[in-house]
Amino acid sequence: MARDVFFAPLQEDPTAFAEPDLRPGLQALGRALGLAEKVPGKWALKVHLGPRNRPAAVDAGWAEAVAELFAGSKVSGAFAFDTLSITTEGLDEAVAHRELASLKGFGTGKLPYVVADAPDQGESLRTELPGDSDLSDHTLAGGLAAADNLCVLTPVRPHPHVGMRGAITTMGVGLADRASKIALHRSIRPQVDTPLCAGCGVCMTVCLFDAIKLNAGRAYIDHEACTGCGECMNVCFMAGINPEEEAGVPAFQARVADAALAASLKIAGGQAARQVYISFLVRLDRQNGGARSRQRDRLGNIGILASRDPVALDQATYDLISERMGGKLGDWSGFKQLPDVLLARAEAIGLGKRAYKLVTV
Ligand code: SF4
Ligand code: SF4
Repeated sequence: MARDVFFAPLQEDPTAFAEPDLRPGLQALGRALGLAEKVPGKWALKVHLGPRNRPAAVDAGWAEAVAELFAGSKVSGAFAFDTLSITTEGLDEAVAHRELASLKGFGTGKLPYVVADAPDQGESLRTELPGDSDLSDHTLAGGLAAADNLCVLTPVRPHPHVGMRGAITTMGVGLADRASKIALHRSIRPQVDTPLCAGCGVCMTVCLFDAIKLNAGRAYIDHEACTGCGECMNVCFMAGINPEEEAGVPAFQARVADAALAASLKIAGGQAARQVYISFLVRLDRQNGGARSRQRDRLGNIGILASRDPVALDQATYDLISERMGGKLGDWSGFKQLPDVLLARAEAIGLGKRAYKLVTV
């Protein structure tokens, strides 16, 4: 049976400078999802800070507006969280991460903010993986032990290994502790296309693992040090860094689906009433300036999508962006990778259904 995906459209005009007001749309989505119905326990809201020099990818005001939807049911104790990054400087260490969160308005109002895998958050949480997973182990940030229910707020963005980062990728990667994040990415071996490399060095500046060097004016990657995080691929304006082996990408996508299911089961018992996914198709034209060739200016805001089913939600997100780009997600993302293996694996292991009904609120 098709799963409901609720859609609050926004004005698409990419030339508009004013930030869109998301509160009316979020309130309509909250009513459609029945978020005011009482669910015992604490809600943990996954947010995404983004790098130092840019606005938060999930604005603190958006997260507070969502928390208020739960607060309407007298559920207390909601908290926002993110985890330490393996791609973004300043988000990879707990003290700097908290400072940046505060600068971006998190933890300064009614909604507390937690760096869920900071050293003071306790031991990582073990999870159960599907029996045929090629991950041997997957552990979540220890701070999530305090969560009974999960709300994943995803700023939809291009992703080098998936095409688009949606709810499944946010959950699979973004709730993991650092060791598991690195294990998830290990199948990706980025390779520099040497004739394309202009020797600008930008990839070196973003690599947190010191895995890129210049040799005779061209970049090369030390695969012993590289984690496969993909940040260098994101920033190369020549589109000169790509996965070495095609097989690494589907392996990554399947692992992420497995990790997402493991997180859903661990935190919310896999129960629909205890999990909510909200994806923001907002500011789609404003990422990675100067990076890959993207027809970003064709998309501004599409709207907000929400569902109890992360697979249906990601399928709807994929379809909406592709449709607006004349059928080609890659024209928007700048990457040839598509989320097909991710979605197929996520459905096969029971994380959700790809069939959906789009309901405009
Ligand atoms: S960012 Fe691209 S062009 Fe610049 S050094 Fe790295 S691989 Fe070469
Ligand atoms: S070289 Fe490896 S670790 Fe460094 S940014 Fe690229 S993918 Fe990430």
